[in-house]
Amino acid sequence: MYDVAIVGGGLAGVATAARLQARGLSTVVLEAHGQPGGCAGSFRRRGFAFDVGATTLVDFGPGGVGGELLREIGAAELEGEHLPGYRAWLPDRRVTLHRDPSAWAVERARAFGDTPAHRSFWGLLDRLASVFWRASRRGAALPLRSPADVVRAARSVGLRDLGLARHMGRTMADALKSARLTDDRPLCGLLAMLVEDTVHSTLADAPRINAALGITIRGAGLSRARGGMRGFWAGLVGRYRELGGELRVGRAVERVEGREGAFRVTTRRDRLEAARVVLAVPPALASAIGPPELAEALAPYIRRDASAMGGAIAVFLGVPEREVAGQDFTHHQLLQSYDRPLGNGNNMFVSVSAHVDTESAPAGHRAVMISTHCELAAWEGLSPEAYAGRRREAGENLVALARRVYPDLGREALVCEVATPRTYERFTRRPRGAVGGVRLSRANANQEAVPHDLGIPGLWLVGDGTWPGLGTVACCLGSRIVAEAILRRADWDPARRRRRPDRCRLAQAPETSDRRIPSSSAG
Ligand SMILES: Cc1cc2nc3c(=O)[nH]c(=O)nc-3n(C[C@H](O)[C@H](O)[C@H](O)COP(=O)(O)OP(=O)(O)OC[C@H]3O[C@@H](n4cnc5c(N)ncnc54)[C@H](O)[C@@H]3O)c2cc1C
Repeated sequence: MYDVAIVGGGLAGVATAARLQARGLSTVVLEAHGQPGGCAGSFRRRGFAFDVGATTLVDFGPGGVGGELLREIGAAELEGEHLPGYRAWLPDRRVTLHRDPSAWAVERARAFGDTPAHRSFWGLLDRLASVFWRASRRGAALPLRSPADVVRAARSVGLRDLGLARHMGRTMADALKSARLTDDRPLCGLLAMLVEDTVHSTLADAPRINAALGITIRGAGLSRARGGMRGFWAGLVGRYRELGGELRVGRAVERVEGREGAFRVTTRRDRLEAARVVLAVPPALASAIGPPELAEALAPYIRRDASAMGGAIAVFLGVPEREVAGQDFTHHQLLQSYDRPLGNGNNMFVSVSAHVDTESAPAGHRAVMISTHCELAAWEGLSPEAYAGRRREAGENLVALARRVYPDLGREALVCEVATPRTYERFTRRPRGAVGGVRLSRANANQEAVPHDLGIPGLWLVGDGTWPGLGTVACCLGSRIVAEAILRRADWDPARRRRRPDRCRLAQAPETSDRRIPSSSAG
């Protein structure tokens, strides 16, 4: 009997498991595929290592949300490229999104003007970002469900800044309107692309605080691990195993039954018992495999969020280094038109492995990942021929658009693969291939978000379908909230061995096979 079984070996699942294991609980992670990672996973082709989804880890420096995870499990600091910023390519101008706040203040005044209206708008954004990034690092948790939650949230925000919580009920579009900046197309264009990329929403819909955190995400620090996500997972899983944790791959969980103290978890290949279970999969998957009371508790959320799901298209290129020459940043975000809806190339992210990173690409070469958002319906109900054609076209479109930054990109590519919602559905099991959690709005975020604890003793949910939402930083924060809740409940056990982990290098390779992303012919 394990203390805790974790279903799903994505970042949220393995982070939760590693925290619990580091605190002396016995854990097992059950992952459906041949290797962990999920939407933050990787695949290999011809000597290149590509990131399937997430390319940048957020706030993994010392004191950050991700940094706290590494410290908690006794892992060393993240090795890799810590981005000094990246470049936004708007239709009519380029803007450098510096990580350094003073450099960013100078750059934004240069790019968008320095009127009193601009200063007042940026002042509000800076204040919200500073207070709520700090609250996240202190482990703030929503939705509030008990007086203890209220006290904890108030402490994380700090009494002096508590009044800023009122911004949760407002949007970024309201803030731009109050500052009379709605006609500033370049500014609104930049903010819209950052909001879509981070909280999958629009300036009109995203709650203001979530949007402010998304817009300022690079200030928290973006890093690409050496070897990309493959390198990151080698270290994370290595450390988890070193702590005594058990990762079982190729274990699609079919059913979770029982009650606290005596859960039975059935996979295709085996069955095990655990006192508690964490479902680190999206709510719709958790509902399908969990006990009936969980399905009942989740049903209103799943119904509500059905139309707030989105997908992604990604292109993976293995190219000679000369094709990505001439730029001083390795990451770029591109907007083609202020007028067209975002997605399908109009807002896309280009991520290139670092020059020194020979774990991501053979010497003299680079791994390039391009991604954009898309609607799911456009990829459904297609014949095999229609699907293949749309996929090829989407891939060619993204590469052509990325040539604004790198004119020769992909001309002599050694690898060229395209992923669509169908690919993500197969790779991560996410229904319809929806990735990244829900498009955040005031109706489904924060106090309205899917909670980690649905009131079923011994059963928790974690991952980008729960608060605080999407991305690696959200998964790390969610894992902390769930692990702390479990540890509070585990306190009754007098035999519980409490130990702090020894620090180690985040470098040990896990014994996992490469999970293959479907090839062009199969995808
Ligand atoms: C194209 C793209 C780009 C992105 N870029 C970034 C970025 O740059 N930075 C960032 O921070 N975030 C980014 N994200 C978002 C980030 O990748 C995700 O939010 C995060 O990885 C989600 O992790 P998770 O653990 O919640 O879920 P998942 O990654 O989906 O993990 C769930 C795991 O559960 C497994 N599973 C499912 N069903 C079962 C079952 N029945 N039994 C056992 N296992 C099961 C799946 O195989 C999967 O491994 C990006 C996402 C995409 C798609």
